[in-house]
Amino acid sequence: MSQEIPVDPSSVAGTSSLGNHPAVAGEPLASSAAARHSGGCRCGAIRFEVDAAPLSVGYCHCMDCRRASGAPVSAFVGFPADQSSMSGDQTRRFENGPVTRSFCGICGSPLAYVDRRLPGRIYFMLGVMDMPARYAPTLHAYVGEQLPFVHMPDGLPQHPKSSVTRPDGDPS
Ligand SMILES: [Zn+2]
Ligand SMILES: [Zn+2]
Repeated sequence: MSQEIPVDPSSVAGTSSLGNHPAVAGEPLASSAAARHSGGCRCGAIRFEVDAAPLSVGYCHCMDCRRASGAPVSAFVGFPADQSSMSGDQTRRFENGPVTRSFCGICGSPLAYVDRRLPGRIYFMLGVMDMPARYAPTLHAYVGEQLPFVHMPDGLPQHPKSSVTRPDGDPS
């Protein structure tokens, strides 16, 4: 499980909302920023940082994530959206109902999604985090759509649909 990382208040100042951050593509991680959560796409055109502890880490077996990632199962790290910033002007977005996914327009790496039903949160693909081993998943979501040959005997809680109850009470 990821640890609570103390936030350096000076690093929060000036944090802008998603997409408005000045470009810092290719900037090496300063040692003072090592405690932050960060990641980026494969080609380096897009970088992101979060100055808050993860809200959740989980696998998703839904068909939409499968199409979006091309992988049999996806994993995500959820953060408060207003504490995250993304740099670079190559971010592309694809909207499918309430879910908008972002990806790199150059290398195609899937990066994150936001869900209108879960306001204020952003879920980054676990595999684009700089230190993915820090984020051990704690649950499986949408196991009702799990592929029959995917077996992950990790003992984690399994949710037939979403692991998060929507404001309307429907966990879909
Ligand atoms: Zn890229
Ligand atoms: Zn999914």
